[in-house]
Amino acid sequence: MELTSQIKEYILEGVVKRFLKYVQIDSQSDDNSNSFPSTQEQIQFGKVLVEELKLLGLQNIIHDKYGYIYAQLRASKGYESSQEIGLIAHLDTSPSVNGKDVKPKIHSNYQGGVINFEKNKNLVLSLEDSPALNDYMGEDIITSKGDTLLGADDKAGIAEIMTLCDVLSTFTQLVHGPIVICFFPDEELGKGTEKIDISKLPRICYTVDGSRIGELEFECFDAWKVNIIFKGLNVHPGYAKGLMINSIHIAAQFISDLPEFETPRNTEGREGFYHLISLKGTPEKSKATLLLRDFEEEKNSERFKYLEILKTLYERKYEGLKIEIDVEHQYENMKKYLESDSKVIKIAKEAIQKAGLDPIIHSIRGGTDGAHLSKKGIPTPNLFTGGMLFHSKKEYIPKIALQKATEVLLYLSLLWKKHKKMKEK
Ligand SMILES: [Zn+2]
Repeated sequence: MELTSQIKEYILEGVVKRFLKYVQIDSQSDDNSNSFPSTQEQIQFGKVLVEELKLLGLQNIIHDKYGYIYAQLRASKGYESSQEIGLIAHLDTSPSVNGKDVKPKIHSNYQGGVINFEKNKNLVLSLEDSPALNDYMGEDIITSKGDTLLGADDKAGIAEIMTLCDVLSTFTQLVHGPIVICFFPDEELGKGTEKIDISKLPRICYTVDGSRIGELEFECFDAWKVNIIFKGLNVHPGYAKGLMINSIHIAAQFISDLPEFETPRNTEGREGFYHLISLKGTPEKSKATLLLRDFEEEKNSERFKYLEILKTLYERKYEGLKIEIDVEHQYENMKKYLESDSKVIKIAKEAIQKAGLDPIIHSIRGGTDGAHLSKKGIPTPNLFTGGMLFHSKKEYIPKIALQKATEVLLYLSLLWKKHKKMKEK
């Protein structure tokens, strides 16, 4: 099943047009907001998408009060009982860099070297920033004008999914099974699945929120947050000999007993870490907050044991000192949920290969919404969008990557139609 050049051109034109439109619509999330979604702009952006989904003929379109969008693309005739798949992308862009008034700029026919930005003369995009630029000689590369992020994260994902819907509705010879689309807000705040209605999603989903062309991600950190409370004893410092238990001083010592080689600064690849994010207090009472991350649960368990050993040692050394350790599981490595559903991975790899790419299996040194969904029983690996250097003013995406990511979604739809509906979990 080869895609004709007509279909490929239709994909390229459609996905680039949508991408350029969407990035100019502000939909940044805001981590200082108490509302859900965090910004009204995400609702407004959602309204634009809902109108387009209607025009493309999708059904049962829902845009709920939290800004979540669900829509169904009906299966081709005869394929109604094929396994339904969900395609998910997020509406918001990162609040970490200015994301308002994005003006995309196309750098045609990239010939190597640095890319300059019109509105920021101090900024350059170079091979040092992104060696992958080497793969895009002769291609058209889209960036912002240097004063904002671009927003390929995740408007590329949205443009690719919308273009898929367009292609499947236009070229009816591309027969496919049922597809559910879901766009949601506040992913960048880690809240993307907070108000999600699981019952509206199929048994299998893919997030379209990855980066480099060809990448497939189905492993993320096992993530914990640890609060350590130190309760000491304050005494007049002039008369404190043998009496004072200075909790903040002890907390600082305790923290410096953590292995420095297991910190974010000194780890990469599959290595885990302790990450101190806050330490505050007074001689009387102090609190340290740490993030623990690893791909292996057992390794995090060892870190807990080490914290317990330190607690015992310090409580022995300072009589009267009390140390409390509270742990909170933030998210799990989704891999263990996906191993039992290896078909989900296998078909994704096949779709990437059919688009003429080598699948690159990548472990995410972070979490994903897919991790939350996988835990809830919906295996959800992450597919690439083609965008690079997310959350920065140097963010870029080549047109060819937008096209290839859409082709992968198309092959995914075509491949899944051959599989009968699986049993509900
Ligand atoms: Zn994203």
